[in-house]
Amino acid sequence: MENNEANKHENVAKAEEVKSTNTTAPQNTQKTENTQNSQNAGKPNEAKPTGDKKPPYNKKRKPNNNSNNRARTNNSRNNSAWIAELKKAHSINERSHKERLNPHNKLNLSTNAKVRITPLGGLGEIGGNMMVIETEKSAIIVDVGMSFPDEDMHGVDILIPDFTYIRQIKDKIAAVVITHGHEDHIGAMAYLYKELQFPIYGTSLPLEMIGSKFDEHKIKQHRDLFRPVEKRTQIKIGDFEVEWIHITHSIIDASSLAIKTEAGTIIHTGDFKIDHTPIDGFPTDLHRFAHYGEEGVLLLMSDSTNSHSPGFTKSEKTVAPTFDRIFSTAKGRVIMSTFSSNIHRVAQAIDHGIKYGRKICVIGRSM
Ligand SMILES: [Zn+2]
Repeated sequence: MENNEANKHENVAKAEEVKSTNTTAPQNTQKTENTQNSQNAGKPNEAKPTGDKKPPYNKKRKPNNNSNNRARTNNSRNNSAWIAELKKAHSINERSHKERLNPHNKLNLSTNAKVRITPLGGLGEIGGNMMVIETEKSAIIVDVGMSFPDEDMHGVDILIPDFTYIRQIKDKIAAVVITHGHEDHIGAMAYLYKELQFPIYGTSLPLEMIGSKFDEHKIKQHRDLFRPVEKRTQIKIGDFEVEWIHITHSIIDASSLAIKTEAGTIIHTGDFKIDHTPIDGFPTDLHRFAHYGEEGVLLLMSDSTNSHSPGFTKSEKTVAPTFDRIFSTAKGRVIMSTFSSNIHRVAQAIDHGIKYGRKICVIGRSM
């Protein structure tokens, strides 16, 4: 739209130029003056450099003869047409900026549709992420994570969210939807599924990680509830339409969720670290965020550890030169520790081990 408008103005500008040259073709003096005019087109009030005694082209001068007079009439008409065109383009662009920067104006705020969001963990704390999104008739649970005890919680191994509210509304729960495979997002799944079961939607890595938890807790049969999803595809779940959008994070195969409800679209970013050069070669699908942004978003839920710290986190790729230096020069063993879920880091360590002909050994409970 903006481009078309810009092209239109450019064409008008060209047409004016041609017309102006044709009109003045018979007389050399006028031709010179009009050429000057078209060179100055678009900047009518620009002052001449000092030292040049000639007045600006649009400043009134005494006419020399009649034909000059005619040319001037043309000029001033052209000038006023130009100014009108510029003003029009300016106001169109102003309006376009307003629309672009305020897409929420596209939301239907007169709807009576309602959506209720209840966080059961993960807000104001690290870990235990679990949230219920519900309408009058149906509900979905986003993530079922665990958290770790403080040093004064003696004898406590892990913490899981309080499932009381889930028990109360269990009949309207259509599914559990999973953003990514971190423990604080899937770590309590087995504890919930021992008691209550719902379909589980997610991408392949988080589902497989939940699967191994089910195996460990001897509820392998609940793998039947897995519903693997394709990113960029809207899936109808109860009253909701949910799309998984690829986002970069310290674990691979992470997703944001676009949740369409009758009340409007909710964007839940999930955990993320925007990395434009991720190790697996799959950067964040910013185009899908832009798509929903254009449509208008009712609510954005965005949460990222250390988001209150200024600056940005460097790409995972920046680790490579350090690995290169250490792996190539170390005389003995190289011992590297990391979160087991940081698959990008583990992959880089293995790649460098192979590159420098070293043997690789992976140790750790969840490695
Ligand atoms: Zn995470």
